[in-house]
Amino acid sequence: MKQYEFWFVVGSQFLYGPEVLETVEERAREMAAELSRVLPYPLVYKVTAKTNEEITDVVKEANFRDECAGIVTWCHTFSPSKMWINGLASLQKPWLHFATQYNKEIPNDEIDMDFMNLNQAAHGDREHGFIGARLRKPRKVVAGYWQDEKVHKRIADWMKAAVGVAVSKEMKVMRFGDNMREVAVTEGDKVEVQTKLGWQVNTWAVGDLVKEMNAVTDEEVDALYKEYLASYDLNTDNTAAIRYQAKEEIAMKKMLDREGCRAFTNTFQDLYGMEQLPGLASQHLMAQGYGYGGEGDWKVSAMTAILKAMGEGGNGSSGFMEDYTYHLVEGQEYSLGAHMLEVCPSLAADKSRIETHHLGIGMNEKDPARLVFEGKAGRGIVVSLIDMGGRLRLIVQDIEAVKPIMPMPNLPVARVMWRALPDLTTGVECWITAGGAHHTVLSYDVTAEQMRDWARMMDIEFVHIGADTTPEKLEEELLVKDLVWKLK
Ligand code: MN
Repeated sequence: MKQYEFWFVVGSQFLYGPEVLETVEERAREMAAELSRVLPYPLVYKVTAKTNEEITDVVKEANFRDECAGIVTWCHTFSPSKMWINGLASLQKPWLHFATQYNKEIPNDEIDMDFMNLNQAAHGDREHGFIGARLRKPRKVVAGYWQDEKVHKRIADWMKAAVGVAVSKEMKVMRFGDNMREVAVTEGDKVEVQTKLGWQVNTWAVGDLVKEMNAVTDEEVDALYKEYLASYDLNTDNTAAIRYQAKEEIAMKKMLDREGCRAFTNTFQDLYGMEQLPGLASQHLMAQGYGYGGEGDWKVSAMTAILKAMGEGGNGSSGFMEDYTYHLVEGQEYSLGAHMLEVCPSLAADKSRIETHHLGIGMNEKDPARLVFEGKAGRGIVVSLIDMGGRLRLIVQDIEAVKPIMPMPNLPVARVMWRALPDLTTGVECWITAGGAHHTVLSYDVTAEQMRDWARMMDIEFVHIGADTTPEKLEEELLVKDLVWKLK
């Protein structure tokens, strides 16, 4: 994982004299250092900007430096914002406007005009806000005291979304074979996603993968087999199936790493030359941060890798998911999500078990090994990126996952059970109205607000279905957005 950082750019001007500027710089350095201790990525103080040139220079450098995942701006004093126009107009990195101030309280006895001149963020941040609005620049505004934990959390969440932008811009997806025949929602415009999101989506032959598998050595398989045993419980005596999955994983990882791909797809309809659909192999790759999409679904695959990178520690609790079936008993309405094999163990409540079972779908000659587990309880989201023709729409729904309410002993795959918000059936009506796919990324540690930030930075349509959504309001929202996005 690349080491990202964010840059702190503070606005001011010459009007107040050198002493004030020195104090501003000193305080900005102190704030950057303290915030770096509590935020997930370093906040590096860069400049107290007083001229158009200083701002333009720092933006050019931010655009150029790969490690810079975004800039955070703040105006300790008043910073006339015409000097920001040239710089901000050329900004290509995510931008957070931090509306804060150095002092927490108004000092009753000490306050005089000198204090007012030095501490006028309330004034300066409004001028700064205007130019952001006037330039129509996508930005996140966070207001609050810089030592407040709630403020730290909001900046931290935005930073992770900005890292999701950096990861997206470099995303390469390896497609083993094409999409599943006749399916509509997994299709999409690959030129559009590369233009908007930066994704390079290309295909490799399954035959190339089989060739790579044939070159995997027994020693390589032994090492990965040991790793499987250390990570998971063994609930099968079919060692050959597990070793075959290890061979698939090693070959796929070699190809992915050689091409710099962070996500991949395959389909059960195209396994020519392989005995088993990769199950355990895909699941263990996902656990390492790679994105996966079944049935050739490259949109969900790339989104899985991005949400993982946005999660805790740069590889969070997010995975490829599919809505399968409902439990519609009144008061106990739940969705049951799973896939034919490939559910990421980062979603598991406990240690996963390796099992082998027959898989009727596809061209499996042998029973594929897979990880079986129950998903965690907790709040989360499901995310779907769809191609509306001429634009992309990102749909995010809040969910409450529960411990599956029944053991389902004959279900041979990992399972997650949840209730969509505002309630299951209204949530389903909203999801279907918006056109959300059956494939999603399910995440326990990325929030709807972070996905809204990500969509804003990517300049794509965003639809959020949550506790307050009604089908009526949603229908109106979609109608307006349809018009707006046709004009954009
Ligand atoms: Mn599927």
